[in-house]
Amino acid sequence: MKLLLIVFSFLFGGVLWTFTEYVLHRGWGHRPSWNPFSKEHLKHHADVMYFAPSWMKFAFAVGVLSTFGVAVFMLVGVYAFAGMVGFLVTYLYYEFIHRRVHTHGPMNAYGRWARKHHFHHHFRRPNMNEGVTTPFWDWVFGTLEIPDKVRVPRRQALPWMIDENGELWDKYKDDYELVGRPKSSKSKRHKTSATESASAKPSLVGA
Ligand SMILES: [Zn+2]
Ligand SMILES: [Zn+2]
Repeated sequence: MKLLLIVFSFLFGGVLWTFTEYVLHRGWGHRPSWNPFSKEHLKHHADVMYFAPSWMKFAFAVGVLSTFGVAVFMLVGVYAFAGMVGFLVTYLYYEFIHRRVHTHGPMNAYGRWARKHHFHHHFRRPNMNEGVTTPFWDWVFGTLEIPDKVRVPRRQALPWMIDENGELWDKYKDDYELVGRPKSSKSKRHKTSATESASAKPSLVGA
């Protein structure tokens, strides 16, 4: 019974994260940049290959767990602790999925759904489809939109969508459509990601 309750608390923590993911994105992500999260998020919208450094997010999760984990365990008990771990594990899962939808093409039905759902938000309707890992809260709060085809500005097409000529791969033509002028060769899209790799591998400078 105790184990079952621990598992339940862990799962509850996970569900609580998906709600937080929705609320943070909807409430803070798209506000003018008066908060650091919104600043990072709007940067991510402007440059679809920009992500705040992963080590920062991972350090945040581990930091929260180690700072509050012991206190939660001592003061509120093992169930609250399991809930907290579930929350943080689901948060890291969200970070993984979000990055993955930008960097790689889909491998299954969930991946296909996650990409269409998220890129419709990115390119067409920033006030809709605020959840990334699940459509549940969008459905609950009336912000769910299921696009037939996602219209992607050609200059912002994700690397996995297009071939070497910048055209959409045939296999994605049911889900996406490129719009707008061809990409200029002077694109600065990958500039910001250099900051991230530089912090991980300083020796790369000049490589
Ligand atoms: Zn995104
Ligand atoms: Zn957004």
